[in-house]
Amino acid sequence: MASELTYRGGAASPSAGAAGAGEYSSAKPASSKPLAWLPRAARYAAAEHRPLFALVGMLFAAALFCLAAPSGSGSGTAAPYSSSGRAAAVSGALTRFSVDPAAHNPGRQFVAGKVPLGLKRKGLRVLVTGGAGFVGSHLVDRLVARGDSVIVVDNLFTGRKENVMHHFGNPNFEMIRHDVVEPILLEVDQIYHLACPASPVHYKYNPVKTIKTNVVGTLNMLGLAKRIGARFLLTSTSEVYGDPLQHPQVETYWGNVNPIGVRSCYDEGKRTAETLTMDYHRGANLEVRIARIFNTYGPRMCIDDGRVVSNFVAQALRKEPLTVYGDGKQTRSFQYVSDLVEGLMRLMEGDHIGPFNLGNPGEFTMLELAKVVQDTIDPNARIEFRENTQDDPHKRKPDITKAKEQLGWEPKIALRDGLPLMVTDFRKRIFGDQDNAATATEGQ
Ligand code: NAD
Ligand code: UDP
Repeated sequence: MASELTYRGGAASPSAGAAGAGEYSSAKPASSKPLAWLPRAARYAAAEHRPLFALVGMLFAAALFCLAAPSGSGSGTAAPYSSSGRAAAVSGALTRFSVDPAAHNPGRQFVAGKVPLGLKRKGLRVLVTGGAGFVGSHLVDRLVARGDSVIVVDNLFTGRKENVMHHFGNPNFEMIRHDVVEPILLEVDQIYHLACPASPVHYKYNPVKTIKTNVVGTLNMLGLAKRIGARFLLTSTSEVYGDPLQHPQVETYWGNVNPIGVRSCYDEGKRTAETLTMDYHRGANLEVRIARIFNTYGPRMCIDDGRVVSNFVAQALRKEPLTVYGDGKQTRSFQYVSDLVEGLMRLMEGDHIGPFNLGNPGEFTMLELAKVVQDTIDPNARIEFRENTQDDPHKRKPDITKAKEQLGWEPKIALRDGLPLMVTDFRKRIFGDQDNAATATEGQ
């Protein structure tokens, strides 16, 4: 038994106890063994052609590795995880609708040829937080239409299921009722982060929740993006310029924001969200994009959300006076929602981080806007002046030179063309129920 444990093979038989034991005995003269000058470990390794076996093993492993490696491995895995490094992989922006997710996202390593054909994806997996809201739902429509698999995460604070209901039943669409202030784990290639109430009435309703959504919610989504290697787009706002001292506003302008006012939960919340986004980019190599959105209008806006376009349109349709705050000489620039969605998608697919102003440079006083609404809906609509709200910015107009040059984007729909499209939607939603109710009553 003892000899079994000590015997290591070789010429001497186990029964030749002395010889076997002598192999490990310093008593035996060293000169009697080949390679005796080597240290004991090296002598052991050299015995019985072991190096040869090791070499053959390594060659075999190397051959296996080469066979299994992706054919175009250079682009997928070696590209630096930076915006400029990705340039070649993602150029061609919006035309790339059936992109290979591995090429799109170098952080994720897909092994070509190893994924069974049936499991290969055609589009991207995209998360849209706040996707049941006004802007988010239009973005979802475009993403689904181009063949992406879209997941909407929304707590339905200001969003509505009706905005995305037409996608229910589509296997490429999922909606999760979830608050972004709580972490969530999903597997996607891109994250459009929109979750946040946008109307002053809504974001002032629970300011602590608003800033939490902007800070904790954005942190959670950035953390998710980092964990899964997704590209992250933040929808920031022209509010980061506050009550601007520079006009029109260029992205390099740092703004004039009251940090302790009633709008600060939103303005400072978005400014912090921008900071977090850039810190994740610099600190964690996250691929990020930042859009600074200017006032946007269109179908699916909340009817009574207090924003000026939705207020005026709903008021004119209901034959109520148009409520102009202050003297009505403050200005805003209004962009139609499809222009914004186009800009967001170009930004996400392009090579530039931003921030980019996305807005229509057409500038209107609130009195001028009221006039356009009168012309579009009811020339007899009355105007009623109301006391203005605190910290209301006096003017707002985007300089979109950067978006034009770097994204090839500019808005196409003028206010007078876009407004009627919104009016049709509002008319249906405001009077649709009444019409149905009237029909139901008639039928009784
Ligand atoms: P919206 O209120 O219609 O949509 C926001 C969506 O986010 C809603 O569906 C809401 O339910 C959801 N949401 C809010 N808090 C959430 C939370 N904690 N967790 C999960 N979901 C949450 O507003 P919108 O006009 O569609 O704006 C979308 C984004 O664009 C916002 O981030 C907003 O700040 C930004 N933005 C919009 C405008 C504009 O004029 N529409 C201007 C500047 C910036
Ligand atoms: N406003 C108005 N009447 C309304 C609602 C808003 O005159 O019924 C004004 C408001 O004072 C502001 C401008 O319209 O100057 C835009 O307000 P909104 O809430 O739409 O957006 P934001 O202030 O965030 O740009």
